Amino acid sequence: MPHPKKSVSDLALFGGQPLFAEPLYVGRPNICDHDALFRRIQDAVDLRWLTNDGPLLLEMEARFAEFLAVKHCIAVANATLGLQLLAHALELKGEVIMPSFTFIGTARAMEWQGLKPRFCDVLDSRHSLDPAAVRKAITPNVSAILGVHLWGMPCMIDELQAIADQYGIPLIFDAAHAIGSSYKGERIGRFGRAEVFSLHATKAINALEGGLIATDDDELAHRLCPVRNYGIVDENTFEGTGVNAKMNEFSAAMGLTNLEHFSLLQTHNRGLQAAYMTGLDKTDGIQSVTAANIENHNSHYAVFRIYPEFGLSRDEIREILVKENIFGKRYFWPGCHRCPPYNNLDPALSLPVTEALVDGLLQLPTGLQIGADDARAIAGLLAFIGKHADGKDGIKHRFGLPPV
Ligand SMILES: *Cc1c(COP(=O)(O)O)cnc(C)c1O
Repeated sequence: MPHPKKSVSDLALFGGQPLFAEPLYVGRPNICDHDALFRRIQDAVDLRWLTNDGPLLLEMEARFAEFLAVKHCIAVANATLGLQLLAHALELKGEVIMPSFTFIGTARAMEWQGLKPRFCDVLDSRHSLDPAAVRKAITPNVSAILGVHLWGMPCMIDELQAIADQYGIPLIFDAAHAIGSSYKGERIGRFGRAEVFSLHATKAINALEGGLIATDDDELAHRLCPVRNYGIVDENTFEGTGVNAKMNEFSAAMGLTNLEHFSLLQTHNRGLQAAYMTGLDKTDGIQSVTAANIENHNSHYAVFRIYPEFGLSRDEIREILVKENIFGKRYFWPGCHRCPPYNNLDPALSLPVTEALVDGLLQLPTGLQIGADDARAIAGLLAFIGKHADGKDGIKHRFGLPPV
C-alpha cells in the first residue's frame, strides 16, 4: 500500500519518500488480452499477410461499424491522416472553424491540407465548441465546422448541425477521444458528415497507431476508401489521387482485441473516477469535469478543474505530484491559438474560456495500470495537499525554500 503522508515534510518534493515506487502516467496503453492479441498476430505472421486490406483489418472495420452502429468505418494509419483525407474528400477550401482547445494535431491536419484554422472559444460546461461563437465566426471563407468531442464528452451536436445546415457547409468531428461515448442515446460516429476516431496508443481503444473514419454517407465512403491507398481501387482502376494511409495487420490485431474488452475497460475507469471523486469530495477548489453525465462518456479521461480556493496552482500541484511519481498532464496547454504559426495569424485573438481551461485543468492517470486503491491514494494525497496548501507551515510558503 502506498506510503501515507503525516506531515508536509513527508512530501517527496521536500525530501520524503514518493507515494509510488513506479511512475504512473496518463495515457499508458491498455492491452486488454495478451493471449488473444498474440494469437491474432501469430495468425497474420503465419498467413504472411501484413497489410493492404488483410483479414484482420476487414474484421476490425466490420466490428467497429457494428459497435458504432454506423454504415462505414474506414481504418487509416492515424487520426491526423484521417482528418486530412476527410478534408480532401470534402474538397474543403479557405477556413475551417475549430476549437483552439484541442490537441494541436487537429489544427495541423487542416493546415497540412492548405486550410486555415479559424479558432473559436469553447463552452465552460463541456469544453467543446460554443455554438454562439461558431455562428459569429462564419464568413464566406469558412468551408466547414470541425467539432472536437474533448475528453469523450460530446459536442452540442444539434446546435452545430443547425448552423452548418443554415450555411450549407459540412459539420465534421475530431472524435479522437470519443470512441464508445454517446449523444442522446446514440454512439458517437454517426454525426455530422463524418467523424474521425484515433486508435493511438494513449487512446481509449488503441491499435498502436491508428484511426477510423466513420460515416453513414455511402458516396463519401466510396470516395475516401481508395485515397488511403494511392487512389488504387483495384489492379486495373486508379482514381483521383491518394496517399499511403493504410493500417497494418498488427495494429488491426490490437484494435480488434481491445475493442472486445472495451466495456471492461470502461467499467474499470468508472471505478477509478468514482474513487477519485469520493476521495476529493471534501476538498475545496478541485472538481471533476468528466464525472458529470458519465453515462454518456467512455470515461477514459479523468479531468479535474483546479480553482483558486485550492490554494496552489495547477502547475504547482503537478510539480508536487511528479515527485510522488504521479505524472499528471496539462492537456491541451497552451491552446492552439498560442502556438506557431497560429499565434502570428491573429495576435489579438482572445479566447477567455480556453485560456482559463489550459491553466486550470489537470488530468490524472486511468486505465489498467492502476486500481481503485491507487486512485484512492492519489485522491488522498491531493486532499492532503489541499489541506496543507496555506498557512505559515503550508506548502505554498515552503515551495520556494530549500529542502529540509
Ligand atoms: C490524439 C489526437 C489526435 C491525433 O490522433 P492520431 O491518431 O495520433 O493522429 C487528434 N485530435 C485529438 C483531439 C487527439 O487527442
